[in-house]
Amino acid sequence: MSNELRWNPILGTWVIVSSKRESRPWREEKCPFCPGTPETGYGWDVLVLDNRFPALRPDARTSVESRDIYRVEPGYGYCKVVIESPEHEGDLDTIPIENLRKYLRILGEETAKLCRDKEICYVIPFRNKGELIGVSLTHPHSQIYALPFIPPRINIELRNAREFYKEHNECLFCHILGFEEKEGKRVLYRNKLFTSFLPFFAMWPYEVHIYPRKHVLHLSDLDSGGIEYLADILRVTVSMYNRLFDFSLPYIMIFHQAPCRGNYNYYHLHIEFYPVHRARDKLKYPAGIEWGAWVFTYDDLPENKVAELRYALQKAVEYLRDRGYSPMGRIISWYTYLGGGTLTSRYS
Ligand SMILES: [Zn+2]
Ligand SMILES: [Zn+2]
Ligand SMILES: [Zn+2]
Repeated sequence: MSNELRWNPILGTWVIVSSKRESRPWREEKCPFCPGTPETGYGWDVLVLDNRFPALRPDARTSVESRDIYRVEPGYGYCKVVIESPEHEGDLDTIPIENLRKYLRILGEETAKLCRDKEICYVIPFRNKGELIGVSLTHPHSQIYALPFIPPRINIELRNAREFYKEHNECLFCHILGFEEKEGKRVLYRNKLFTSFLPFFAMWPYEVHIYPRKHVLHLSDLDSGGIEYLADILRVTVSMYNRLFDFSLPYIMIFHQAPCRGNYNYYHLHIEFYPVHRARDKLKYPAGIEWGAWVFTYDDLPENKVAELRYALQKAVEYLRDRGYSPMGRIISWYTYLGGGTLTSRYS
């Protein structure tokens, strides 16, 4: 069994290669994340486990040696699974709110813990939901990868944020947030500490980003208030997605935080959602131009998609209230925007 990193000298990126990973189960008979299995036991509400089929591991071995320009390194790192609820079904808008808060605290604690390993450079929590995204287990869960390198997408974000900071003496993300809030066209929901919006430069039809309005770098920098308001905006956002077409919408949710060590004060914690639908019955397939050139095409105006998401948000707020959860923030009313009015809200 081997877990290794192979260097792509053309793209300048690592590929994680593991020899035994393909044998991982696809929909086992019995859910391994439900309480009462040898791994899960009983008496928990949110549980962190080691991934049973990790792409990276601390005792990683390579299958070959480096030779010529082909560099190989052990696939050192950690792959964790965070089970968000003992209940077999659910999403971030239906699991108990206490679970959601605890889940976010755990992501912060795990990040801090994994970063204490000097070999680990970057910790990335993410959540894949839905069979369309290839999720083999439907029990609500997320994953955490602790990587021995900074991933390329983060490197690009870091580079542009650093350049912007050098030129303007201001955080790029704080600036984007300020501009989105001033323009108001793409803002979806705001509570005391966080704002969600569909970015001007969205690549996925219903892509949504969530920024803390306070300049923080890591999940572990959030205090209990920060956790509470982040849980709130995640709950509202996921509920909005699930109301968009009135079915449980598949999505990818990613936490982008600063690398483990070093001075990255110009960076800013944020969450990105990539749903794969472009309409109720149509998917956005990243195909030739996206994969072959890393150029995304967007087949509508993002501002039109905002109107759809705002309508779904109204339904989400009502859905959550009916189930006993009062959203802590305000939504931007879609009809006000369509009428060209100023930012107002029915929920303040
Ligand atoms: Zn289960
Ligand atoms: Zn900032
Ligand atoms: Zn990002």
